[in-house]
Amino acid sequence: MSALEAATLPMMLTELRLPTIKRLWPALAEQSNREGWPAERFLAALCEHEMNERERRRIDRHRAESALPPDKRLSAFDFAAVPTVSKAHVTALAEGDSWLEQGANILLFGPPGVGKTHLIAGLGHALVERGYRVLFTRTSDLVQRLQAARRDLRLPAELARLDRFDLLICDDFSYVRRDQGETSVLFELIAERYERKSLAITANQPFSGWDHVFAEPAMTLAAVDRLVHHATIFEMNVESFRRRVAQKGLAPSEQRKPTTSKPKG
Ligand code: ADP
Ligand code: MG
Repeated sequence: MSALEAATLPMMLTELRLPTIKRLWPALAEQSNREGWPAERFLAALCEHEMNERERRRIDRHRAESALPPDKRLSAFDFAAVPTVSKAHVTALAEGDSWLEQGANILLFGPPGVGKTHLIAGLGHALVERGYRVLFTRTSDLVQRLQAARRDLRLPAELARLDRFDLLICDDFSYVRRDQGETSVLFELIAERYERKSLAITANQPFSGWDHVFAEPAMTLAAVDRLVHHATIFEMNVESFRRRVAQKGLAPSEQRKPTTSKPKG
């Protein structure tokens, strides 16, 4: 290769926005020359690296924008602690695919501390790794944002912005206060995403306690109807994980191991 090529190649690769090829081509070119690769093989190897890197950066961006709690992964979730939730079922949901394409929902119910947030965040992380876009929000924050949007007459634009996300997680749904304006933006969100884009909701009370979530009974019925129409429901009616760990001094998964390096008590 001429000195001119060696000098202009980095500039061209910058111009074409191919940072990975720009970084890797000298080493790969050397290997290719040494091993006598056909030109196609060299070119394909460079393109493959660029595409893989691009995908990785895309996933990193999606993880950052997801606002998912970083340490709540499925790998750290002890399924044995929640017998009503099957690991196989959650693993299948973590593949994404058909349920997200249908805009189906996930509803998690249970008292505080049973792992609702951890489980749904773990599922969110798994979906991000699969290339999906997820947004984790506390329902009260989301409602504030939607109400502010409505005041500025840009609620439709804000709902459209949320459309980018294959899954919108509304954590602590039942904490939302009963107020006409607050509940109606939530209702609009549910109606807007119905059968198009998935929602995941965590709540302390199953639907029977939802009269205080929506101002009017008719609105509650209509919202619940849309939410459950295509939904996976997990009832997590176990004892608080936090309380169990506090009482026993060890996580349940650690207790099952016969040998542990930690001193007991
Ligand atoms: P909830 O949202 O139902 O109130 P969290 O998901 O916040 O409960 O769980 C409370 C704490 O216990 C968190 O630190 C969470 O990581 C942990 N936790 C709950 N359930 C499990 C579980 N099955 N395996 C591992 N950690 C758990
Ligand atoms: Mg929670």
